[in-house]
Amino acid sequence: MNKITLVTGADGLVGSAIKRLNLPNAVYLTHADLDLTDFEETKKTFAKIKPNRVIHTAAVVGGVGANLKHPGSYFRDNLLINIHTLEAARLAGVEKLLSFISTCVFPNNASYPLNEKDLHNGLPHDSNFGYAYAKRMMDVQSRAYRKEWACNFITAIGTNVYGPNDNFSLENGHVLAALIHKCFLAKENNTDLSVWGSGQALREFVFSDDIVKLALWALNNYNEESPIIFTSGIETSIKDVVHLVAKKMGFLGKIVFDATKPDGQLRKPSDSAKLQKYLPEFKFTSVADGLEQTIAWFVKNYPSIRK
Ligand code: GDP
Repeated sequence: MNKITLVTGADGLVGSAIKRLNLPNAVYLTHADLDLTDFEETKKTFAKIKPNRVIHTAAVVGGVGANLKHPGSYFRDNLLINIHTLEAARLAGVEKLLSFISTCVFPNNASYPLNEKDLHNGLPHDSNFGYAYAKRMMDVQSRAYRKEWACNFITAIGTNVYGPNDNFSLENGHVLAALIHKCFLAKENNTDLSVWGSGQALREFVFSDDIVKLALWALNNYNEESPIIFTSGIETSIKDVVHLVAKKMGFLGKIVFDATKPDGQLRKPSDSAKLQKYLPEFKFTSVADGLEQTIAWFVKNYPSIRK
């Protein structure tokens, strides 16, 4: 019998990248299909679909601006979504479940590079503590379920993921999506391109298609109780990435850095050693190539983008 793979968050950045692969026997759920904060509905839906495997990508996410504005709802909704999804999966007898955490939930004072084993060793950054605690609980829940019910639930930690079908909101999006949108408008309207913060912050950008390849590998091959970080280990500054976006979009106007806006964490380099041990040959898409594909998608789909 063919195994059924259920993907939550199918219209999100990672979920939609999985959907583009047209996997055989996959069921895709969006927020419109099922509200994962409703436990009764979640339980019923899982019992009906009877998935063998689950890739849980659904989450309420946003960039540094959205996290500062919504710590309460980000904490509540993400906690409910994860508790319900993993519990419904357990009750439905799911064999393997992969869910996603993020490097932004690591302790603010962790030593670098961030390592899987340090996830809980300190307070998260103030700018996203609600989201961070909710996401950390997914690691706790997965480990606890492994112990009590032998559920093969695993977690992966993405760094700064970007790609087609991201949320391109100017205020609430993550940096690359927001910047692509801002640059597009600045070019159209002949205005400056205004960038948040100092431009000095560093991030490890990972293209969504790479995350999907790694997720499918993990679903088939990764069985450790501790998370695995999906990262190239390469940091890029916001300043460099802004210039790349401007160049690729043909923007010739002025780029200004708005110091009244937050920088968030200055850097959060993560440890790629575990991933490299498993997949020494894996080639990450360069930021230049990933941006090119994302910009092409944005321009083709504008104005009906998520924002
Ligand atoms: P983070 O990695 O969780 O902080 O998420 P972001 O994707 O929001 O990245 C934030 C970094 O990009 C910070 O250093 C911001 O100051 C910088 N940045 C520059 N312009 C923007 C923007 O328009 N939107 C966002 N979200 N961040 C921006």
